[in-house]
Amino acid sequence: MGETRQVDVVVLGLGVGGEEVAGRLAEAGLDVVGVEHNLVGGECPYWGCIPTKMMVRAGSALAEARRIPGLAGSSTVEPDWAPVARRIRDEATDSWDDKVAVDRFTGKGGTFVRGTATVTGPGRVRVGDQEYAAGRGIVVATGTAAVIPPIDGLAGTPYWTNRDAVETATLPGSLLVLGGGAIGTEFAQAFARFGVRVTIIEGSDRVLAMEEPESSEVAAKVLTADGVTIRTGVRAARVDHDGGFTVTLSDGSVETGEKLLVATGRAARIKELGLETAGLDAQARFLSTDERMRAGDKIWAVGDVTGNGAFTHMAMYEADIAVRDILGQGGPGADYRARPRVTFLDPEIGAVGLTEKQARDAGLDVRVGHVPLASTSRGFIHGPGNEGFIKVIADRGRGVLVGATTAGPAGGEMIGALSVAIHAEVPVSTLLSTIWAYPTFHRGIGDALKAL
Ligand SMILES: Cc1cc2nc3c(=O)[nH]c(=O)nc-3n(C[C@H](O)[C@H](O)[C@H](O)COP(=O)(O)OP(=O)(O)OC[C@H]3O[C@@H](n4cnc5c(N)ncnc54)[C@H](O)[C@@H]3O)c2cc1C
Repeated sequence: MGETRQVDVVVLGLGVGGEEVAGRLAEAGLDVVGVEHNLVGGECPYWGCIPTKMMVRAGSALAEARRIPGLAGSSTVEPDWAPVARRIRDEATDSWDDKVAVDRFTGKGGTFVRGTATVTGPGRVRVGDQEYAAGRGIVVATGTAAVIPPIDGLAGTPYWTNRDAVETATLPGSLLVLGGGAIGTEFAQAFARFGVRVTIIEGSDRVLAMEEPESSEVAAKVLTADGVTIRTGVRAARVDHDGGFTVTLSDGSVETGEKLLVATGRAARIKELGLETAGLDAQARFLSTDERMRAGDKIWAVGDVTGNGAFTHMAMYEADIAVRDILGQGGPGADYRARPRVTFLDPEIGAVGLTEKQARDAGLDVRVGHVPLASTSRGFIHGPGNEGFIKVIADRGRGVLVGATTAGPAGGEMIGALSVAIHAEVPVSTLLSTIWAYPTFHRGIGDALKAL
């Protein structure tokens, strides 16, 4: 064991949140040690947001080309996965090499340590045989990993997680997807558009079960149109692998596929961190934090590990709050009312704040405005591919919006206006007198507000 090194801050995990915290604190002149046992940058650039959105972009290009008949002539589409795999390997991930990211951090004055960090006491972290004592404290940013459910037979098989699906250089003929959430449906649509026969198996009664029922309906409709088979309300009871996969479902039926993608959720990486030595509950599902992202004495936590929404923008948001707190800069604390999220299907499904059911369960005096996108001018002009809707949820008592969904082409862009409205608590009366450019998709927000 080497001598204990005195530093200001140790950051555990240099994914989206940790890299931001560590880099900014180092730039501010603190002595920062950033520890990462895999790739600096984390899930988002190497196996999450960026490569999967490259897949989605490619699938959408195919879908648009297939919409040419009836709009602009004729088209012949011959999908080829090679350019997608090449972009992911060369442009997005540098063949899963993080040299650029490591240099970016050390260039800011941080000390980078490749290894697995374990907490050994308040403000104390060990990596290998080196012990660090962090004067200001430690930041836990260890993210989440794919949940592998305890399904009979699954463990011994060569199943895919998001990482294998992103890394694949060739496509299987068929793919079973366990889980119909955002990750499962995005992969399903992208692969299906390249000719893979995809089946989604979802235990609840609809895909995108966390979103508005209308979102689930749109998602199911477009996925089905893309050739995806959707099995809802059934669970995988047994998995067998013999060359290909056979999944026996809870109703006794059987689905087969060349590959099997497990997309049944994400679990925080907490248990192995030794957090109990610093007085935290190491068995908790997520690390609970206060509005300054403090999880305990001299311990901050940011990103997926806090359970406040597993999105890159949430990791960045929480990182900013933790940095300001560590540097004593003050400023606004964490406020999750206007948390946005986008499911990158075609159509994109943007959402922010509460769903209608969540608002009703919270006891609010709820008013709902809804407009199908096809009935708006731009939706009508757009024609093929115009599936979607705009839904706004208002709290009549306070006269403000508390939630919204924008599904449609550019649905993820449309949600921006409603994020501002909810975050800034813009009165519905003010929103109603807003001028929305014609003929944009977002002009439908005005129609949905009128329908409140
Ligand atoms: C398929 C997929 C698609 C996604 N698409 C989107 C999207 O479109 N938009 C969006 O906003 N979000 C998306 N996400 C979510 C996004 O990737 C995460 O929210 C984000 O990466 C969280 O950042 P983080 O820093 O909390 O964790 P991570 O990025 O997971 O980083 C945590 C890091 O900690 C390291 N680590 C863990 N334990 C230790 C230890 N003991 N010692 C050292 N290092 C450790 C890990 O190796 C990892 O690099 C997607 C996720 C997936 C899986």
